[in-house]
Amino acid sequence: MNIDRRDFFKIFSAGVVTASSTTNVIAREPKNRLKDAVGILYDATLCIGCKACEVGCKILNNKTAEHKIEKELGVPKSWDSASDLSVDTLNKIKVYKNGNDFSFVKKACMHCVDPDCVSVCPTTALTKNQTNGIVSWDIDACCGCRYCQMACPFNIPKFEFGKAFPELKKCEMCQHLIADGGIPGCCESCPCGASIFGNVEDLLQEAHRRLNSGIGEEYNFPISELESQYRTTKPISKYVNYVYGEHENGGTQYIMLSAIPFEKLGMPILPGQSEAVLSEGIQHTLYKGLIAPFVLFAWLAFGAHRSLKNESTELDTESDEKKGGNNE
Ligand code: SF4
Ligand code: SF4
Ligand code: SF4
Repeated sequence: MNIDRRDFFKIFSAGVVTASSTTNVIAREPKNRLKDAVGILYDATLCIGCKACEVGCKILNNKTAEHKIEKELGVPKSWDSASDLSVDTLNKIKVYKNGNDFSFVKKACMHCVDPDCVSVCPTTALTKNQTNGIVSWDIDACCGCRYCQMACPFNIPKFEFGKAFPELKKCEMCQHLIADGGIPGCCESCPCGASIFGNVEDLLQEAHRRLNSGIGEEYNFPISELESQYRTTKPISKYVNYVYGEHENGGTQYIMLSAIPFEKLGMPILPGQSEAVLSEGIQHTLYKGLIAPFVLFAWLAFGAHRSLKNESTELDTESDEKKGGNNE
């Protein structure tokens, strides 16, 4: 391939000019909640921090303890308390304490309505189920680029850095259990109704019902799932008048209620629209007509050509020097 620096810049300029002049970067329409989307409502005012949900999550997703106490008290594998989300901990209860302010908070994938991780994935290894809205990952399609990890505004996807062929790990809302008519392990295990499963629109209505109830009013909270026959009656707490996840990042399917402002619980303050709306527009513009790959290919070809040329010049010089040495 005979390409010099001037040719390369001609190609590069033509590509950039074509990309910017023939196509406008247009943000696409934001995505909306699916009618049959399922989700979790976590009410921090009901959470007692027992971590049964962490254990349930591990058992039902075949995760091991991060720090095993192999033989202590004759128990072969005691559960540890993980410090954060990881490849073995897909659901983490954290605690916030400041003076008299105190709350637990449950961290896991938010199952965004318009997920950034899905939007940036170049191989569609991350997908959003178009019926129930669950965001899941496909081992066979993943190329390991980790764009999803960088794009997630909640810092959720984790990779197995210690392995030669690392896999991505995150909560997939126990879709294997839901497919069999079950409910997520964290909701199943929660003894006090702090985590409940249901249709997201119904969960949003439930959350607003709680916010609209009077402080101290007796309320019949469902256990494990919204339509459960098992209930517990407790007085309504003084909530922050806000449902976290109703709007954040274009909305999420894991939503929260709390008595403490969400930013204090480590939940990010995010705009009401996913970054995917704009970033996907830019991505598609650059890839339209294969302009970006073509420019990249030309750049790589130019680099390879130059280094091969330099290498052969160096070899020629070296062999000339050797010849000179032999002649002496
Ligand atoms: S929280 Fe992160 S990993 Fe989960 S769906 Fe949203 S962007 Fe993806
Ligand atoms: S839905 Fe399943 S995987 Fe997700 S946090 Fe709950 S138990 Fe864990
Ligand atoms: S099981 Fe329920 S009460 Fe216990 S830590 Fe988890 S969410 Fe809180």
